[in-house]
Amino acid sequence: MTGTLRLYAFNTGWFQCRPGYFIEGEEGDYLKGPVPSYLIEHPKGRALFDTGMGVRYRRTLETALPSNKFGLQWFEGQEIAARLRSIDVDPASIDWVINSHLHIDHCGGNASLPNACVIVQSRELAAAQVTEEAGLYEAEDYATGQPVKAIDGELDLFGDGSVMIVPTYGHTPGHQSAIVTLPGGARVLLAADCCYTERNLDLMVLQKAVVDREAGMRTMEYLRRERESGARILFGHDGRQWAGVEEAKPLT
Ligand SMILES: [Zn+2]
Repeated sequence: MTGTLRLYAFNTGWFQCRPGYFIEGEEGDYLKGPVPSYLIEHPKGRALFDTGMGVRYRRTLETALPSNKFGLQWFEGQEIAARLRSIDVDPASIDWVINSHLHIDHCGGNASLPNACVIVQSRELAAAQVTEEAGLYEAEDYATGQPVKAIDGELDLFGDGSVMIVPTYGHTPGHQSAIVTLPGGARVLLAADCCYTERNLDLMVLQKAVVDREAGMRTMEYLRRERESGARILFGHDGRQWAGVEEAKPLT
């Protein structure tokens, strides 16, 4: 463990969809977005923000999803446990998992982090437990036996303001994001699915997958203010933005 905070980004798989899934009415070829996970190393512990997909979405080059199909997939070596090991971090050393929400592509790696306490908004946990629509929330991803810290609203994870968990409702009833302040003072807002792409924020257009549009717009306005005040926002599934993100190295 190092003496100062470090933030690492990883892509743990791919999400494919038509442009209209991001911005209603837009057409064109299928887009490929990352499924990000972030490691926060803090002197007081290690936290992961989102954990990717479960084993059932693993594919090989032979069984890969065709490029014109909607869906999720990852390939061997992309899973969060492997990504952590690649930088000499033992998955068993993760103290906290912050799940932005409990959709299958955000908590599917929780099972590989046996000693973590899972931090989730209590209203998100409740939504996962009552939603029966298949392919959104699956208990095998989010109910993996670790202790759960269900919170309501904001949380200053390490008590020093460096990792602030903030509610960003709309995409789901209890979606949350995190603002990480790097040692040099730069602020990085890990948005996850409260806003899929930078273009959504530029246009102030909600993505299709939003359960509460009013809350979703309030969240977008919040993101706008954060961006104007200098925060770097990393979006949920933005392939274009991700091309400029350096993985597995401390972000600066
Ligand atoms: Zn989602």
